[in-house]
Amino acid sequence: MSKIVWAVLLGIATIAGAQVRGGDDARVVLVMTDGMRWQEVFRGADESLLVPERYFDKRDVSELKKKYLAATPEERRQKLMPFLWGTFLSQGQIYGDRDAGSDASVTNGFSFSYPGYSETLTGHGDQRIDSNDDRPNPNLTVLAWLSKQPGFQGKVAAFGAWHVIANVVNPENCMSCMVKAGYDPVEMSPMTKEMKILNNIKANSPRVWEDEAYDAPVFETALEYMRVKKPRVVFLSLGETDDWAHAGNYGEYLEAAHRVDGYLKRLWDTLQSMPEYKDKTTMIFMVDHGRGSAPEEWKSHGQKVPESKYIFMGFMGRGVPAAGLEKNVAPVTQSQAAATLARYLGLDWNAAEKLAGAPIAAAVK
Ligand SMILES: [Zn+2]
Repeated sequence: MSKIVWAVLLGIATIAGAQVRGGDDARVVLVMTDGMRWQEVFRGADESLLVPERYFDKRDVSELKKKYLAATPEERRQKLMPFLWGTFLSQGQIYGDRDAGSDASVTNGFSFSYPGYSETLTGHGDQRIDSNDDRPNPNLTVLAWLSKQPGFQGKVAAFGAWHVIANVVNPENCMSCMVKAGYDPVEMSPMTKEMKILNNIKANSPRVWEDEAYDAPVFETALEYMRVKKPRVVFLSLGETDDWAHAGNYGEYLEAAHRVDGYLKRLWDTLQSMPEYKDKTTMIFMVDHGRGSAPEEWKSHGQKVPESKYIFMGFMGRGVPAAGLEKNVAPVTQSQAAATLARYLGLDWNAAEKLAGAPIAAAVK
């Protein structure tokens, strides 16, 4: 082979290598849905819980049964989360199916929300974070660190349904980040008609939960912000799965999970239609904590429900080997998410935060 051909091939190899390591224009979207159980993700709806007593004021559940029940776990999970078990799985990998020999868990020892979000975004548990109080995170998150890296200034955004999400990220540390949570309005430049409508919807909707908006306007806010501002790193935290489960409303918990799957699809399809994101984006989908088992403990989680430490973690898109459902693999932990996320951007979070878990090696090309 001639020297010129070799030079061309080496050039291609170098470009390909740079893409695998993140390159100059890699992007990451991290989506979390609060307190969704690995059991529903991998097994689908639990028939024993899908009863009128566990829906709005004993509302009829026959439509929900048609929508979500089927003979096998594979069919049920496909009905509950068709995007996750379709496009996401075919272009990525999912950890946490304990029926298939894959454990994913939190390491923070608390198994509730603030410790879980903090572990996800910092890469380590912190004994000081022992409540869900709405206080600034004393730790630097990978988002705040990214916002100070070259090429990321003004390119990091975080949106949460739960008001506390803003303090978990800690806007004081996150320079030039867009951080908005709960019912707070988003101002951006240029401001759009769509964003004004979303701000109005949040301001004027019933506040069923005083510190947490419904997922729908929060998702639409994040999508509108991405459409206009095109940030490189986005964290979107949704909350209804946790709220409906705490309320004992299994029917609406399933509906909320199904809506989240629809948001993942719309997010992915929208990003693939935008040149700034198309084929440059990695999507991560995971949860802050698990919950207990049927018939009662599924409503709850925390230190008194030991199995609520089990979670799920999924990765898809650029830089992710399409391994599909992980079976009989070494356990992974929530503390590995931050370094894995940074790795998709070609950056080393472990060098900046010594306490952080290592990237999940098999999740990164
Ligand atoms: Zn939670």
